[in-house]
Amino acid sequence: MTSDQKLATYVLGNYGRYPIWPVRGEGARVWDRDGKEYLDFAGGVAVCPVGHCHPNIVQAITRQAQTLIHVSNWYCIEGQADLAELLVTEVVRQPGKVFFCNSGAEANEGMLKLARRYGAQKPKADGSPRRKVISFTGSFHGRTLGAMFATAQEKIWGGFGLRPEDLGNVYVPFNDCAALEAAISDDVVAIMLEPIQGESGVNPVTAEFLRTAQALCRKHDLLLLLDEVQCSFGRAGEMAGWRSIVPGNEIQPHAVSWAKAIGSGYPLGAFWARDGEVASLLGPGSHGTTYGGSPLACAVGLATIRTILADDLCAHAKSIGSDIASEVRGWHGSLITTVRQFGLFIGFELDAAKIEKNSNGKAASIYLAGKLLDAGLMTVPAGPSVIRWLPPLNISREEAQRGLGIMRDVMAAIA
Ligand code: PLP
Repeated sequence: MTSDQKLATYVLGNYGRYPIWPVRGEGARVWDRDGKEYLDFAGGVAVCPVGHCHPNIVQAITRQAQTLIHVSNWYCIEGQADLAELLVTEVVRQPGKVFFCNSGAEANEGMLKLARRYGAQKPKADGSPRRKVISFTGSFHGRTLGAMFATAQEKIWGGFGLRPEDLGNVYVPFNDCAALEAAISDDVVAIMLEPIQGESGVNPVTAEFLRTAQALCRKHDLLLLLDEVQCSFGRAGEMAGWRSIVPGNEIQPHAVSWAKAIGSGYPLGAFWARDGEVASLLGPGSHGTTYGGSPLACAVGLATIRTILADDLCAHAKSIGSDIASEVRGWHGSLITTVRQFGLFIGFELDAAKIEKNSNGKAASIYLAGKLLDAGLMTVPAGPSVIRWLPPLNISREEAQRGLGIMRDVMAAIA
């Protein structure tokens, strides 16, 4: 059997895949099994902040693999202590404790469990637990049961036999302060949001909305849960994504979740909980996962974050990202109607009606991402009408120009 036949026969068909087979990567470049080269501006969907096979990452994996790959959380793991310190001091910059897991959905699941505990410990006036979590239209929090129903998109949770209200989820229009205020009841225990929504097309929270959410949390004793799975570690130009919306320490979440970039492609997720009553909600035996924070995972996480900090990749992402955005905004008569850019987290909103005239029924984003791929540029569709760029944070100006050139030529051919 060929690999194509094996994939079709043995691998679950839950992904709509483009028919290319990447086998090797270096920096911002990837090669497929036929030797064709691609510029990778998809970055494994925001997973590769320092590019493919960066020497620091390869060295960290190799060294740790030769020393100790895994040991149980029954014991103390040095890498967890070091990585947690970095996350607290360099990313959140507020005292708290970190729990390590393996993915974004799992990190969010942990934050949701924190909220459930908080609702039980700080119940309603009648003594019954508060159990509602507010999340927002356009959100994406992952595919486990809890994270899936925190996601306010029916295409994610439809067909699984439950309704959002069964799990205590309440959906509110994103960035609508009045609607958020109106949704608060004595049953609500938390507000959960992505500072910049990735899957729905690089849609930022407004500073006003984030401040309102924080004020409502303070007023009604709710937890402010920030899902930073896609927007953190320099992706949006700051170590903490929310600081690209409200700078400094004004926003003080109760919990923050991470995954994707933290492990440079090695599965690693984490959440941080504020010191005091929030961090003490999950004591011994209340939560855990076998692989979470293994020595190998933590070595990769440390190498990734240290490289981002040492090479000042936040500043680089901001500068190169804003050059890309200005150049595209200057293209006349292009198929791009709006550019939303935070560091190297960039969403190009497409003129979907024009593209879909010739797209054989495909959504504009899927169609264009396919054409870009044919031309050697990997990007990620976000919703039906946005193309996302998530290149390594250390791309060169020359690589950015090559990507821009490919996109301009492909769109000219389509137009
Ligand atoms: N949260 C956000 C904001 C995401 O973008 C994603 C994945 O795209 C997730 C959670 C889920 O992460 P994972 O796929 O690692 O479970």
